[in-house]
Amino acid sequence: MTQDFQTDSRQMLGRLRAVMAEDAAGQQRLDRITRLIAEEMRTEVCSIYLFRDEDTLELCATEGLNPQAVHETRMRLGEGLVGRVARTGKIVNTDDAPGTPGFRYMPETGEEAYCAFLGVPVQRLGEMLGVLVVQSKDSRTYSDEEVYALEVVAMVLAEMAELGAFVGEGAAMSARHQQAVLFRGTGAQEGAAQGHVWLHEPRVVVTNPIADDPQRERERLHEAVEDLRVGVDRMLSTAASGDKEQLQVLEAYRMFANSKGWLRRMEEDIGRGLSAEAAVEKEQSTARARMGQVTDAYLRDRLHDLDDLSNRLLRILTGQGHETGAEMPPDPILVARNIGPAELLDYGRALKGIVLEEGSVGSHAAIVARALAIPLVIHADRITTEALNGDHVLVDGDQGVVHLRPDDTVTAAFRDKMAMQAKAQERYASLRDKPAETLCGTRIAMQMNAGLMADLPSLGSSGAEGVGLFRTELQFLVRNHMPKRAELSELYARVMDAAGGKRVVFRTLDIGSDKVLPYMKAVDEPNPALGWRAVRVGLDKPGVMRMQLQALIRAAAGRPLTVMFPFVAQREEYTAARAEMDKAMARERILGHPLPETLEVGAMLETPSLAFAPDSFYAEVDFLSIGGNDLKQFFFAADRENELVRRRYDTLNVSFLTFIEGIVARCEASATPLSFCGEDAGRPVEAACLAAIGLRTLSMRPASIGPVKSILRRTDLTELRRVIFDARDRGEQSVRPAVMDYLRGKL
Ligand code: PEP
Ligand code: MG
Repeated sequence: MTQDFQTDSRQMLGRLRAVMAEDAAGQQRLDRITRLIAEEMRTEVCSIYLFRDEDTLELCATEGLNPQAVHETRMRLGEGLVGRVARTGKIVNTDDAPGTPGFRYMPETGEEAYCAFLGVPVQRLGEMLGVLVVQSKDSRTYSDEEVYALEVVAMVLAEMAELGAFVGEGAAMSARHQQAVLFRGTGAQEGAAQGHVWLHEPRVVVTNPIADDPQRERERLHEAVEDLRVGVDRMLSTAASGDKEQLQVLEAYRMFANSKGWLRRMEEDIGRGLSAEAAVEKEQSTARARMGQVTDAYLRDRLHDLDDLSNRLLRILTGQGHETGAEMPPDPILVARNIGPAELLDYGRALKGIVLEEGSVGSHAAIVARALAIPLVIHADRITTEALNGDHVLVDGDQGVVHLRPDDTVTAAFRDKMAMQAKAQERYASLRDKPAETLCGTRIAMQMNAGLMADLPSLGSSGAEGVGLFRTELQFLVRNHMPKRAELSELYARVMDAAGGKRVVFRTLDIGSDKVLPYMKAVDEPNPALGWRAVRVGLDKPGVMRMQLQALIRAAAGRPLTVMFPFVAQREEYTAARAEMDKAMARERILGHPLPETLEVGAMLETPSLAFAPDSFYAEVDFLSIGGNDLKQFFFAADRENELVRRRYDTLNVSFLTFIEGIVARCEASATPLSFCGEDAGRPVEAACLAAIGLRTLSMRPASIGPVKSILRRTDLTELRRVIFDARDRGEQSVRPAVMDYLRGKL
């Protein structure tokens, strides 16, 4: 790098800044910019191509090409050399443009006279805005210095575009972030929501991309990086030692924060006239562009870490914190790359919808979103780049679709959908106090599944008769430390208070498999779903289980208590867990604490083995609850977390129904109360079939109670049972077609 060229580059940026400061319309500005770049770079041509729509680029300003071609010449993404730069995000630098494969001849521009071609992407934080091109008549390759200088200018252009510099009268480009964008992700909690974007991590706005005093900017950068390093070290020293993932992220932060290459590249950019924050953002843009091309999950994660770190550095430099002064809209749709369960709980029910770039259906955030009944779409790729605070947005959690800045027709259609859903909800609400009594007079007990305090208000609003499954692990999952006994006991007491005397079935800690506590040592297992989980952990390392049982007894404080052990696979496990319960009771008695008024201790039936357990087991348990989610995965040997197989086997498959029927018969014979608390209990058709084969208690998400009750009240179980048996007798694999036929005729 020569000192001379650095000076030139700074001079070019200085002139660029003067152009930006002039009071001019968007087009005029672009025209002046192309002229000054051509002069400074000593090239005959400088042109700016910007995206007209998602896949068309338009020549928006030129110095040297035929001016008539401006706003006339267009190319598709990937077409010609310009299109290639835009598609790949990589520069093209050639001394023989017409001879370069992919060159497209555009007679209206008079371009064929130019041999040398240098095109660089105009991009901001991974968002491609256009292409900046210089061309010369003589056959030469632009030097690294020239390439670099043009990249810096392109970066400043992108920054200016973000600030709206090219918008206005005679606009050369429409304002960024104004077009409608559709995101196709994955629905992780159903429901439709309309509202305005609230960014979990607000975008940092760089208002001063160009700086005069590189020495000062370097100092600012160094000070900020030092602050950053101290902050990362502090985070590392306080991080939970068992949280492997968090430690990995923080270690990556530390590595990047201390990376000499990172700092050097930013210093070089400053040397070329960028401000410290613009230099950080340039590096961030490069990392984001790479992110789009990397398929390796580990590498992508590290690029994300670098992105996070750059955001932190930008916040330090600009002084823009999370508190940007922006006000949360009244109907916020949270947009984030990802979010932890505790942070999501902090927002609580204020949110109308949630859209994440990452996440998974089984993630803790998804569990919380479900508990709060907030529509959630995950895998909405790049939405944090596109969305701005306050943008109008529609979230369709059923289809996994998000419409950002939708046009009026889309909004109108969406409103119709929401109105229909609201109508259905009204209908269900009117059933709230009515019993789930079928046409043949059978009463089905409707209970709800819960796991957080936030769930409890649904007990009243849904008309649930009790909590059939309280997943206690959620309280453990949303914290970053092991809760204390007193904390738990207070929480369980509040749950019982909120239930107002309705029965709550507390399931003891079901961790392992997909539910990993951040503060517990993770165990590497080849098949976690078949591994060391739930009651197996509780029995092998009884400390936490004992603490939990004690907390439950103390919370009951003389009230009835119901406890259920998860994932029991054989009688001895239940007997051993029950013995822990008895010991806990005895200990509490000795300590003088009031014992529960009544105590029921049950087990979840989640492994096929338990369906064939000895009679003594059925006699011993106070009740059983079928955990259909796990039971089905083991029955069909199909991982419930694996998209490739998780929907492959139908609940209404005759083998599975026959299997459940056998469990119902055993429970009837031993007078063991039985319920079903897997997801299928909340699916109306499946729920009706479960009732038809003998289930009398169903526990489901609160939102499912209305739809399930509605179908049950219109069904004759004796008839439905006959339909199921007839289909089975005919040798059908699934009774679903026959059941659907029957229900269609009835409803
Ligand atoms: C089940 O397995 O059906 C169940 C209710 O438990 P979880 O979904 O929490 O594993
Ligand atoms: Mg389970």
